Amino acid sequence: MVDFELTDEQKAICKTVHEFALNEMRPVALECDKEGKLPEDLVKKAAAMGLTALAVPEEYDGGGMDQLTSAMATEELFWGCAGIATSLGANNLAITPILIAGNEEQKKKYLPRLCDPENPKFAAFGLTEPGAGSDAASISTTVTEEGDYYVLNGQKCFITNGGIADFYTIFATFDKSKKYGGIAGFIVERSYEGVSIGKKEDKMGIRASNTTEVILDNVKVPKENYMVPMGQGFYVVMQTLDLTRAGVAAASIGVARAAFEEALKYAKERVQFGKPIMAQQAISFMLADMAMKIEAGRRLYQYAGWKASKGLPCSLESSYAKAFCSDVCVEVTINAVQVHGGYGYMKEYLVEKLMRDAKIMQIYEGTSQIQRLVIAGNLMGVTDAYPWN
Ligand SMILES: Cc1cc2nc3c(=O)[nH]c(=O)nc-3n(C[C@H](O)[C@H](O)[C@H](O)COP(=O)(O)OP(=O)(O)OC[C@H]3O[C@@H](n4cnc5c(N)ncnc54)[C@H](O)[C@@H]3O)c2cc1C
Repeated sequence: MVDFELTDEQKAICKTVHEFALNEMRPVALECDKEGKLPEDLVKKAAAMGLTALAVPEEYDGGGMDQLTSAMATEELFWGCAGIATSLGANNLAITPILIAGNEEQKKKYLPRLCDPENPKFAAFGLTEPGAGSDAASISTTVTEEGDYYVLNGQKCFITNGGIADFYTIFATFDKSKKYGGIAGFIVERSYEGVSIGKKEDKMGIRASNTTEVILDNVKVPKENYMVPMGQGFYVVMQTLDLTRAGVAAASIGVARAAFEEALKYAKERVQFGKPIMAQQAISFMLADMAMKIEAGRRLYQYAGWKASKGLPCSLESSYAKAFCSDVCVEVTINAVQVHGGYGYMKEYLVEKLMRDAKIMQIYEGTSQIQRLVIAGNLMGVTDAYPWN
């Protein structure tokens, strides 16, 4: 039996998160975008509601949501403001390797830090480097073992929460010639000597989120912070992204939905040639396409999230969802600006921000091309496309 009914708990969570997005995020979204800042009070309120790191289990003070529910909550948060929500989402990305591969002491020590309503901390996921983006296995940050420590040297770039994180999950290589096989993962505290913040990026969109370089200069990491052993680092990164890409897909649908709602409202109100522009088929069909694609995208991310929640393999479904939903997000937001005509190009209209925010969905956590590589790679081994046969 296929059941599309949400549980009462899921409905309640979506409603609560939507109200938070509407009442707390939307009123500050344009200002935070303009100033490129994250509102501290709002983050505290989010922490009190378990929204600063949706995947942190309840025993470590988190919201304890499964991946499907967390993806649906993510849709709501990104509907509110993609910049603020990206910072919260990056917490989830950063702690997922700890959830997958960390030991009990590491979980107890670091996970609750993100959920403290009085003083919620941020975390960041440090994989990308200037010379290693899509080709993540080619990272150059080195690690050597020296007495009681592992010593890290290298430079990470484009790190969300880089400048505000309390700790980082950093991937480094013991031996670059081993490629995938040399990579390991570490929990690195911001306070460790040798950790510094480089360039802060001035971005097109998601401007409320903080994106920086993170420089590691002879950083001595205590052995208890060895998170993923050599040889497994790359696979934990891939497992992490399998789990979090449904979230980026959901984020894309949140932004697309916000743009669609604005466009629909505007199309019904704006009168040209003596009638609302919605009465023009060219406009109403554009809105029909938006509604249809948003609905299709939502089903794709929910299916990926459902599989992840059940502990089933979800790499392919996450890539379907991320590639499709991010394309939908870009298309819908561009068309929402089109529906607004010249007004959509102006900063006082929300759709202007949404169109800028949308583009990142096709880039971070694996570009659209990389998602298609994953999908095509799966197809190589497929001889029968009908799973029920
Ligand atoms: C705002 C922002 C936030 C980010 N946050 C984080 C973060 O928190 N942590 C982190 O580790 N990283 C983060 N990233 C990095 C992000 O994941 C990378 O930018 C992304 O994976 C692409 O890498 P790249 O920018 O080096 O592009 P490249 O890998 O150089 O790609 C350039 C182009 O070539 C294409 N391409 C590359 N290889 C192939 C191929 N084999 N086949 C077809 N096309 C290909 C790509 O799709 C892209 O279009 C962030 C990036 C941005 C912009």
